[in-house]
Amino acid sequence: MTADAPYDPTSDGELQQEFVEQWRNAAYGCFSSGHKFCREVCPVMQVTRNENHTPTAFHANVVAMEQGAYGIADVAEDYVHCTQCGACELRCPNTLFTGDFYRNRTQTVKLVKAMRALAVDSGVEQPHWKRWIEATVDRRNEPVLEVPVEQERVRDWAEGLDLATGGETVLFVDCEAAFFRTSVARSTAQVLNAAGVEFGLMREQWCCGGPASEMGYTAHARNFAEHNVADWRAIGARRIITLDPHDYITFTEDYPTYFGAAYDFEILHITELVADLVRDGKLTFTQPIERVVTYHDPCRLNKRKGIHESPREILRAIPGLTFKDVDHVTQWSYCSGAGAGLAIEKPEITAEISRRRVTQAADLGVDALVSACVWSERPLSEQGAKLEQPLDVIDLMELVAQAAGVDGRGVTAVRSGGAVAGVRGGEASRGAPEALA
Ligand code: SF4
Repeated sequence: MTADAPYDPTSDGELQQEFVEQWRNAAYGCFSSGHKFCREVCPVMQVTRNENHTPTAFHANVVAMEQGAYGIADVAEDYVHCTQCGACELRCPNTLFTGDFYRNRTQTVKLVKAMRALAVDSGVEQPHWKRWIEATVDRRNEPVLEVPVEQERVRDWAEGLDLATGGETVLFVDCEAAFFRTSVARSTAQVLNAAGVEFGLMREQWCCGGPASEMGYTAHARNFAEHNVADWRAIGARRIITLDPHDYITFTEDYPTYFGAAYDFEILHITELVADLVRDGKLTFTQPIERVVTYHDPCRLNKRKGIHESPREILRAIPGLTFKDVDHVTQWSYCSGAGAGLAIEKPEITAEISRRRVTQAADLGVDALVSACVWSERPLSEQGAKLEQPLDVIDLMELVAQAAGVDGRGVTAVRSGGAVAGVRGGEASRGAPEALA
């Protein structure tokens, strides 16, 4: 952070003043305690060791803005250094010891999103995020790289599967899965078919808007949401199945704030549904998989939404599989570094976070790391491939499809990025914004 001259807090107009009024109490709640327990669970801080990248600094900046020391232009870049994983909130004594008794639960993720939105609304933009969002608006889907992203091709992954359009239950296929990790989308659809779940696809599926919201582009985020909800209503959808935790958190946390009580959809994540199907005997695993694996808890599924049992239940139900769990305090599990646009603006930090994550997995003596988040799988697989003993990265639904005797592979329309055998070596990275030019 730099501040060459005394800052006049009134010079930014109403936007910053409104922001400071809204976040003042939360900022002092953190700033005055000064414990900093959150620093060591923060995946970004563990890599950069820069105090400006800590949850404590994120709150202290608000105090500095209130005191007239800093303006948004001075601090905006600090807030790029966050994956919005939520680990700091879980570790914060304000949350741990008092719960929400004082209505002062630490909400660092919301603060980071709000500060990023203030920056964009004030004209302080990050160059790679700006280009990423412009490309997403242009194409209606995130510009996952090295594959052609066009709205006309958003269903190419389903070629030959004869899937319906519309109906009461809709499968929402994340941009990364629809255009790059297509074997995850195919596996998911085939597993649902095998279990007799009736579902359809959207007429026109746009990006969920979550990345735009996370990077501070709130107006664009809302436009995506309005399109998708209008499409759901037009096709009679009541229940939305997500296969990616980023969509799940966007649909369960952002969309309700946009639409209020009128938002009456049931949002279900695929791991919860598949665990139910296995428990109820509607999905059976007939094919043993003789592998030794561990599980990567996606931050938005585990730390942010408390979903950590269903993926483990599924893994334990697969015959032949040896599942070595990471630890016993699963909500403090380690991040992949892929979230909240970090990989787009700071790919080198994402790569190092992912390298540490796959190294932790390899230390358990496994031959594969199973994830339930398609966005984590590219950086993790890139780093897994570089280990002395290369480590496969597999999506849980790819494993489920194999165990259920259906095969998610075989799509010809776009590149798969791997399948049950592993997703090593995807050359493209979410953190290669030059390719957008
Ligand atoms: S949400 Fe995660 S990445 Fe962001 S400050 Fe908290 S611990 Fe660090």
